[in-house]
Amino acid sequence: MRRSLYVGLRCVGCGSEFGRGERVLTCTACGSELDAIYDHGRAGAFFRGVRRSPVGSIWDFGPMMPVTREEAVVSLGEGWTPLLKAERLGRRIGIPKLLLKDETRNPTLSFKDRAISVAVSKAVEWKKEVLVTASTGNLAAAVSAYAARAGLKAFILTAASTPLVKRIQTAAYGTTVVPVRGATTDNARALAGELVKERGWYPAMTHSTANPFTLEGAKTAAYEIFYQMGGRFPDWVMVGVGGGENLAGHWKGFRELRPDGEAEGLPRLVGVQGRECAPFVEAVAKNLSYEELKPWKGAHTIASGLADAYPADARLALRAVRESRGTGVAVSDAELLEGVGLMAREAGVFAEPSGAAGLAAAIRLREDGVIDGSDQVVCSVTGSGLKQYEEFSATLRIGRPIRGELRAFERAYPA
Ligand SMILES: *Cc1c(COP(=O)(O)O)cnc(C)c1O
Ligand SMILES: [Zn+2]
Repeated sequence: MRRSLYVGLRCVGCGSEFGRGERVLTCTACGSELDAIYDHGRAGAFFRGVRRSPVGSIWDFGPMMPVTREEAVVSLGEGWTPLLKAERLGRRIGIPKLLLKDETRNPTLSFKDRAISVAVSKAVEWKKEVLVTASTGNLAAAVSAYAARAGLKAFILTAASTPLVKRIQTAAYGTTVVPVRGATTDNARALAGELVKERGWYPAMTHSTANPFTLEGAKTAAYEIFYQMGGRFPDWVMVGVGGGENLAGHWKGFRELRPDGEAEGLPRLVGVQGRECAPFVEAVAKNLSYEELKPWKGAHTIASGLADAYPADARLALRAVRESRGTGVAVSDAELLEGVGLMAREAGVFAEPSGAAGLAAAIRLREDGVIDGSDQVVCSVTGSGLKQYEEFSATLRIGRPIRGELRAFERAYPA
């Protein structure tokens, strides 16, 4: 790993700074979330020299990571996922320059691997032995895989709504899966917080209010989009919002690519949620501050990755939308399933409902005339269709078995 440009952590609330050797996860002065800072004077030279290594992972951006010891890095080859042109799908929805950032191609089939590779590496650097997390599925699988990779113990607290296939994937890596009562992760998350406090376990959670390092993994998707577009930025980036870290991470990554820190010329970011679980979108629409943002009552969406009643990274995510002059969009379950089907049939990418949120929102914003027909639009396809297929599979028609004879085939499929 080339020389680290990591300086330390700065509090988002009060501005207190902590050197890179200090073991803090939240601000000891005011309790707010911390943001990793780098030597921005040297970052420009680093970014000009970035090359994808033969293996190709987020660690090609190692100097812009908060991990300073190469031996600590825990990687499964996450990142450098394809940025696919989706011309046929794009023409169909009136956005010919549509691009899909195919995050389903990460090691555990979701974008969470970026964040967890960084967080678990930091746990190794800090010689932590036990990890704990709370999740409805993709985070659970990622923490479990990277804990196994590092040889660490992990307790994975899951909500009752966690799809069976995600539970199986999580348990396969040999960590301890603890189902916690409750449809959302609220109870599990509170318990995880207590275990961090009482037992000194390491929080492998993807929101800055619990762990400042995961955002550093999420931001690498923005770096990749820039390089994959030949050193340019798209007009729009569409991101599903659960806790809001993926959205905030994209904004951090884009900002860091501009040495002057200017937002001018950077993409507009759109945060997408389910219509029945849209606290973030509502806060954007009503121009609420993050302090005014209230948990959504009776939250319900088929997008299990977006089912957070309260977006834990509200502060950074709202900032991302406002500074980028972006917006928020709430989509229905039907729009999500329509998005899954369109993306699979017209672009060859099979997403879970949460992963189709960006596309569903792009369709809506194009219809409303917010997105122009000549705009370049990137959708973050956050998780694989194999992760949650129950609702979508009900829309598919698969033929009944026939005898393996030409006559039987011709009867079933007339020429
Ligand atoms: C976690 C998750 C999201 C939401 O990401 P946040 O960073 O929590 O906003 C979206 N899609 C999928 C597939 C996820 O697993
Ligand atoms: Zn502070």
